Amino acid sequence: MVIGVPRETYPGEQRVAMIPALLPSLHKAGFEVWIESGAGEAAGFPDPEYQDSGAHLMPSRDELFAKADILLQVRMAGANPRFNEDLPRLRSGQILVGLMEPLWRAEVMPQLAQRGVTAFAMELMPRISRAQSMDVLSSMATIVGYKAVLLTASHLPRMFPLLMTAAGTLQPARVFVIGAGVAGLQAIATARRLGAIVEGYDIRPAVKQEVESLGAKFVSLGLESEEAQEATGYARAFDEAFYRRQQQLLTSVIARNDVVITTAMVPGQRAPLLITREMVRTMRPGSILIDLAAEWGGNCELTRAGETITEYGVTIMGPVNLASTIPFHASQLYSRNIANFLNLLFKEGRLNFEDEITRSTLVTYEGEIVHPRVKEKIQSLSPSGQEGHSGGDENAH
Ligand code: NAD
Repeated sequence: MVIGVPRETYPGEQRVAMIPALLPSLHKAGFEVWIESGAGEAAGFPDPEYQDSGAHLMPSRDELFAKADILLQVRMAGANPRFNEDLPRLRSGQILVGLMEPLWRAEVMPQLAQRGVTAFAMELMPRISRAQSMDVLSSMATIVGYKAVLLTASHLPRMFPLLMTAAGTLQPARVFVIGAGVAGLQAIATARRLGAIVEGYDIRPAVKQEVESLGAKFVSLGLESEEAQEATGYARAFDEAFYRRQQQLLTSVIARNDVVITTAMVPGQRAPLLITREMVRTMRPGSILIDLAAEWGGNCELTRAGETITEYGVTIMGPVNLASTIPFHASQLYSRNIANFLNLLFKEGRLNFEDEITRSTLVTYEGEIVHPRVKEKIQSLSPSGQEGHSGGDENAH
């Protein structure tokens, strides 16, 4: 089995899907690895490191695609607007593994089926403990939560920690994190380490304890309920009236904080709108809002994906693809997740479809879209194929 690792083509992407350190274990498992020249350079893994670890270098992308039985990428299919350049290079039976936005960009998936590829989308990894070591979204969210805090800390006209100096006492910054999933909890932990006073909020009450164990205060709005969590482990979507109520209740919390970090998401859907223009207006001038859901429509009405703007004296950041800005460690985690997935995917050299993990992540097989939720999503798309994809996503790509 030949693994091919092409250069990433998503604009500005710096990660690579496989790092040299993991190649020996892949060789041992019977894989041969070919890397497109320069694929790891931006992440800090130059070609000679791959060669020293036993990889073959391929200068030609066409030849790499032609040779590979399995293609590993970070952003492919629906997660990369430039993926159509690679479409003609794909061949029937080829295996694709990567982030593909199979629900958010479901309209791209039929193209994979038409090419006859066997596509595994890492976003569809089930939230079961056995799958944790393959969970790319968790790995990337850890990086994103950390980096978001650093961005706000370097922009804020205040310092984060409490400081008592000869020139007087500096009060610590106040940080509010909305959505205490993987990214949110990492943001809370990082802001606490920098000395800020932190509050956290989530619609899933189960996370209260985790927020508190990190030294933050859990904000309760009285809206949280066990039903907010789907069996999948993710939050469910609510109707507009619910979000309006949530906005009202969040207003006073937002106004008392210097930094607001929003991470609220519902898989495959537009991110819930939790902060309106009016709410931003109540924030203190000089404060910062960073919207980690910018790529999926944003949690704040004013967010512009990929941009930093100022409104009413408040800085609003809408970073896109933030994990790529820490490419060395992001690639390390990503590669490990993928290597673990490959180990499970192949049993005695053949694809193992018996496992829940492989079945849950399989999007296309033998010319068909086989994933029920992806199929459903495609059927629900309007004739223009754009339903549910409004907002920041267009800006992002
Ligand atoms: P996510 O990125 O989909 O969402 C981020 C957070 O936003 C979630 O905590 C969600 O509850 C919250 N949210 C959604 N709508 C909201 C609203 N209207 N108001 C406030 N908050 C809202 O989620 P995630 O970070 O990927 O993870 C969700 C959960 O899954 C976490 O508890 C995590 O620990 C768990 N998880 C389990 C596994 C596993 O067992 N293999 C792997 C990863 C994550």
